[in-house]
Amino acid sequence: MAAPVAPGRVLPTLNEDGTRRWLRPKPAPGTWLKRRTVVAWVLLLTYVAIPHVFIGGKPAMLLDLQRREFTFVGTTFLPTDTLLLMLLAISTVIAIFLASALAGRVWCGWACPQTVYMEFVFRPIERLFEGGPRGSTQIDEAKARFHPRRFTKHVVYLVIGSFLAHTFLAYFVGWDPVVHWVFGSPNAHPVGFSIVTMTTIAIMLDFVYFREQVCMVACPYGRWQSALLDRDSLIVAYDYGRGEPRGKGKDRAEKGDCVECQACVTTCPTGIDIRNGLQMECIHCTQCMDACDAVMRKIGRPEGLIRYSSLAALAGNGRHFIRTRTVLYPVAFFLVFGAFVWQLTHKEAADVTLLGPAGAPFTLEPDGTVANQLRVRIANRSGIAHAYAVEVTGADGLKVIAPLSPLPVQPGRTETMPLFVMLPRDAFEEGVRTVTVRVTDGAKFAGAFPYRLAGPMRDEANEPTNAHEKAGKHE
Ligand code: SF4
Ligand code: SF4
Repeated sequence: MAAPVAPGRVLPTLNEDGTRRWLRPKPAPGTWLKRRTVVAWVLLLTYVAIPHVFIGGKPAMLLDLQRREFTFVGTTFLPTDTLLLMLLAISTVIAIFLASALAGRVWCGWACPQTVYMEFVFRPIERLFEGGPRGSTQIDEAKARFHPRRFTKHVVYLVIGSFLAHTFLAYFVGWDPVVHWVFGSPNAHPVGFSIVTMTTIAIMLDFVYFREQVCMVACPYGRWQSALLDRDSLIVAYDYGRGEPRGKGKDRAEKGDCVECQACVTTCPTGIDIRNGLQMECIHCTQCMDACDAVMRKIGRPEGLIRYSSLAALAGNGRHFIRTRTVLYPVAFFLVFGAFVWQLTHKEAADVTLLGPAGAPFTLEPDGTVANQLRVRIANRSGIAHAYAVEVTGADGLKVIAPLSPLPVQPGRTETMPLFVMLPRDAFEEGVRTVTVRVTDGAKFAGAFPYRLAGPMRDEANEPTNAHEKAGKHE
């Protein structure tokens, strides 16, 4: 029985009977393609080069998951930098909103790694091995399980995918370990090997099978388009007033400039017809602009039937740069990003966190003193190693045991030292006593931090047992 046929196409990548419609866009050389090619290759080289670039002795970008550190442009963010990272993330989101309000989906068409790799690496390789869109379609129609040209293409994809997977891993561990692992046995580095294998498989699935469907189905950006764009945002648009009524033929007295040649459709990497208006699937790649400009030149009409414009401009209302969102987004961006820069430039040379004991809050020693154990966690934010000394003040008769003080901490690292504070039990009011913990590196950093020690309540003070013994009695 034949498959039921849906009236009309639901997705450009689906046939009406629900089977996959493979898109084989025809290249459209032109000015915009030249510009995009330059941008794409700069980005491709940048993506590959970043793990090799160091700024001030630190990687330009390193997502060190094991240490929970993120290094970006020579600055290392530690796990305690939640506020800084939150400000950076919010600034990035606002910048995306602003870029979309001003320039539409410029990210999708010009800079997204999915588009850049698909259109400037994997699609050209496909054309080279399969003989262009027509050759690919012939291979599709042959329905052969094995085709030498398609197989060779997949082998080349695999080599490139594997290289990109190793580059991806280098963003997390750096290049040196990756190179070391490549020449070692997978048994010696199973996690790294698994990440590279899974990333290579993901890259193959993406560029062999999912392709443009990643933009249309998986990526949420297209769905946000209606919220992020307004009538004055820059979009790739067909000039309906100039192009319609469309039609073929030499007699154009009653017709618009669109000659119904379909060049804009056959070149579209997402398989849509730009003449149907602004669509979620349009990644604003400008290929239809180049294709249509070539046709316009051929028939002696002005270029730009498909061009960068806005819905308002196409409706004859001009383009308005100053709008509510183009005022609010920059204000919000400068406030949030300004707060980020201020925080970043006013960071202390060290982060100190005082942590309580893991077990009983205090112990009563046989001589009647109360002992508190705490831990001092120190993150060295400076660029050089320091040894941090700790002292405690704030009560008469106070004794401190700090076996690891001064504690050496390497730059960008975090270390923890134990600290024991002993006080006479009558130093406690209502079971607490606040003391001051001072930490200094003897150079740039000196900080004083209040800490509430725990002790016995007044009516407990005469009990000749310590906290551990009491806990045992209750059990
Ligand atoms: S390429 Fe231009 S002329 Fe040809 S169908 Fe598209 S809009 Fe019309
Ligand atoms: S409609 Fe034009 S700009 Fe949009 S994705 Fe297709 S070719 Fe690119």
